[in-house]
Amino acid sequence: MIPYGRQQITDDDIEAVVRVLNSNYLTQGPYTQFFEQKIMSYCNARYAIAVNSATSALHISCLALGVGVGDSVWTSPITFVASANCARYCGADVDFVDIDPHSYNMCIDKLTEKLECAEKLNKLPKVVIPVHMCGQSCDMAKIFALSQKYGFKIIEDASHAIGAKYLNNPVGSCQYSDITVLSFHPVKIITSGEGGMALTNNVEISKRLKLLRSHGVTRESLEMTSQPMEETWQYQQISIGYNYRMTDIHAALGVSQMDRLDAYVAIRKRIADTYDCKLKELPIIMPQRADYTNSAWHLYVIRIDNDRTDRRQKEVLHALHNMGVAATIHYIPVYRQPYYESLGYKKGYCPQAERYFSEAMSIPIFPGLSEKDQLEVVGSLEKALR
Ligand SMILES: *Cc1c(COP(=O)(O)O)cnc(C)c1O
Repeated sequence: MIPYGRQQITDDDIEAVVRVLNSNYLTQGPYTQFFEQKIMSYCNARYAIAVNSATSALHISCLALGVGVGDSVWTSPITFVASANCARYCGADVDFVDIDPHSYNMCIDKLTEKLECAEKLNKLPKVVIPVHMCGQSCDMAKIFALSQKYGFKIIEDASHAIGAKYLNNPVGSCQYSDITVLSFHPVKIITSGEGGMALTNNVEISKRLKLLRSHGVTRESLEMTSQPMEETWQYQQISIGYNYRMTDIHAALGVSQMDRLDAYVAIRKRIADTYDCKLKELPIIMPQRADYTNSAWHLYVIRIDNDRTDRRQKEVLHALHNMGVAATIHYIPVYRQPYYESLGYKKGYCPQAERYFSEAMSIPIFPGLSEKDQLEVVGSLEKALR
């Protein structure tokens, strides 16, 4: 089977991990710091806080921005469930802004309308979490302008988008957001096994994130809230926190993979260019490239164009599987999950997301995809749509 995505591990990666295993630090230590510094300088952000997953990063980001019971957090329905769950962890309500049918990102017009409406009802969101679907950035300047008008905070879920650009700045620079979250899960652009990071330019937010990452415990006497004892072993728990630390074993893999980030994005783009060229005659809707962003091409999503073919998405997916191509769907609209339905969400809530869900499929795109396998995917799609 040709998967839709797969990590690539080199001998350098393996050596880097083995070096940590032979060192004094296994848990958060010098490699974690080095990984944070590398990402910070690549993304052009002032602070980076490495954690054990993007899910953890989303959770503590919500907490660091003060999300709690009675608050509302808005995100896109076409995302992994973690983008919404983070608000639920904090006891907040989640709501969904329908997608733009061209970029598959949160629709700015829908967001604007929903904010106007929420203002009248006195139910404005505390935080909005735009998701850079497939690796293509949302139009952040516009979302930022709305945040200034309506007073909400922004967490970018850039799990798909390390290595992408928005208006010539790297995604992660937090130019138009309070926090940006990255994922290093193996299917993403680079991996640390499991892992995530929160980036911010705000020193206060960075301090809160560090406390939340590690039990609410500080060793900085200036941060201590009761009289410090001025002993080297002194530590104080000044808030509640978690154990969300990244280990140095994971960080070493991440550091090693960072060296190939640009090369990986370039390969992904080349694969996308080839698909763009070879699939354009098929009865499908091709990915559209917004002019304000260079995608990291985490996913290559095509949509069956039912104006031009009678073939249905599910038939095509089955046919592809039978020919050895593990195409899949990203994502089921989050509010259609039984858990969110139990909170009252109903079918039909976000029509564009549901239409997308009934037509879309992700086809293989990853650095190790050979030219031969890519042509195999193209040939299989041609057959499946015939
Ligand atoms: C993968 C992913 C996450 C979760 O990442 P983990 O590192 O696995 O916790 C969150 N949001 C989006 C959009 C993702 O694709």
